Amino acid sequence: MGKKTTEKGGGIAGNEVCSFCGSAIGEVEMLFSGANGAQICNHCIEYGYNVLIGPEAPLENGMQRVAKPKNAEQPLAPLDELPKPTGIKALLDEYVIGQDDAKRYLSVAVYNHYKRLHHTVASGREETEGAQVEIDKSNIVMVGPTGTGKTLLARTIARLLKVPFAIVDATVLTEAGYVGEDVESILSRLLQAADYNVAAAQRGIVFIDEIDKIARKGDNPSITRDVSGEGVQQALLKILEGTVVNVPPYGGRKHPDQKYIQVDTTNILFICGGAFDGMERVISRRLGTRAIGYGRGGDGPEIDRDNLLRYVMPQDLKAFGLIPELVGRLPVLTWLRPLDREALRSILTQPRNAITKQYESLFAMDGVKLTFDRDALDYIVDKAVEYKLGARGLRSICETIMMEAMYEVPADPSRRSLRVTLPFASRRLENSEFVLARKTLKAG
Ligand code: ADP
Repeated sequence: MGKKTTEKGGGIAGNEVCSFCGSAIGEVEMLFSGANGAQICNHCIEYGYNVLIGPEAPLENGMQRVAKPKNAEQPLAPLDELPKPTGIKALLDEYVIGQDDAKRYLSVAVYNHYKRLHHTVASGREETEGAQVEIDKSNIVMVGPTGTGKTLLARTIARLLKVPFAIVDATVLTEAGYVGEDVESILSRLLQAADYNVAAAQRGIVFIDEIDKIARKGDNPSITRDVSGEGVQQALLKILEGTVVNVPPYGGRKHPDQKYIQVDTTNILFICGGAFDGMERVISRRLGTRAIGYGRGGDGPEIDRDNLLRYVMPQDLKAFGLIPELVGRLPVLTWLRPLDREALRSILTQPRNAITKQYESLFAMDGVKLTFDRDALDYIVDKAVEYKLGARGLRSICETIMMEAMYEVPADPSRRSLRVTLPFASRRLENSEFVLARKTLKAG
């Protein structure tokens, strides 16, 4: 095979064009010619490589990628190798601060899910003598303010189970035929996470974030099309129930020429999360009605008015606009509490990959011992609370404080330690755009 090198922008020399994309010799860096006069440019070779090896590369010039599903059967780890619910909770404790109720519910749901997988395998093998008990799937829904650990919990669970895990945002999903993504694209993400091993994907976990955003809007959906509401819920329902779905391997819109991969969702665990803003009002209305019905809140246990979410029940999800069938497919319902100052303080230092531990590791790589003073940490928490940034804000505040040091310290070989004191932290944050922008906003 001959090789012709060319400068970009050169003219067309004879019929020296790539036989695949039609680019002329001057438009590409290299053109390879075959014995029978066919030619291929370096870009097409790269695309070809990516089609076969790397599924993430973008496609151009009308090229279409055909993923080859692998179907290597993966043996299910024995049940006794999986930690018991108490053990699962203990592992979650290493990564996630607080949220005990959610951790307990998740631990049990995941353990039961695993049992169910074993049960399904066993009943398939034995060809059932007599009636077998079928165990229902324990899909989960977590209700709690944003940034309180819903995604982190789901991600930690998946890591623990060593199964493919995908996060999808329900807000991008729309009813088939409308702008947005088809619901099946959820499974494309899972397939990608499983490296296109269908058998592994079929036992994976999908976290659907912002499930509250596909709630039905208003009571009469027939007046206006509700493309991102009830239609999406209906489509989601099928997937949650367990069915064989034609999945577009690379997500996005389905289109007729595309090759699909069939995925059976029977054993995929779905964990949904949502902030459900205004849910407290729904719960309080329900509790209020009941209190009147039962004698004006007289004898019953005291209601924890600061944490109304703890009383969330399936009917509240319905009142919020989720269709009853979907609620029925999410039998495990749990809640997360807002993070208080103490929880934020712990998040900074305690989890296995706490933010401060991450900075310590980064500096250690340059031979520098990094330490944080207590009052500096308190200051970081105060700022996250002041600017109502929650746990996500801790990271950006720390980044602002540490930026200058991360820039300068590696170039100073004499530097052996760095102590982040309160004045160090406040000086860097107060003079940063991070704070200045917020001050201006407030003043405006
Ligand atoms: P959500 O899904 O509830 O909106 P996330 O789980 O994405 O929130 O949390 C955002 C980030 O905040 C996480 O990556 C983590 O660093 C931190 N975080 C939030 N809640 C907790 C928690 N309870 N324990 C430890 N870290 C947390």
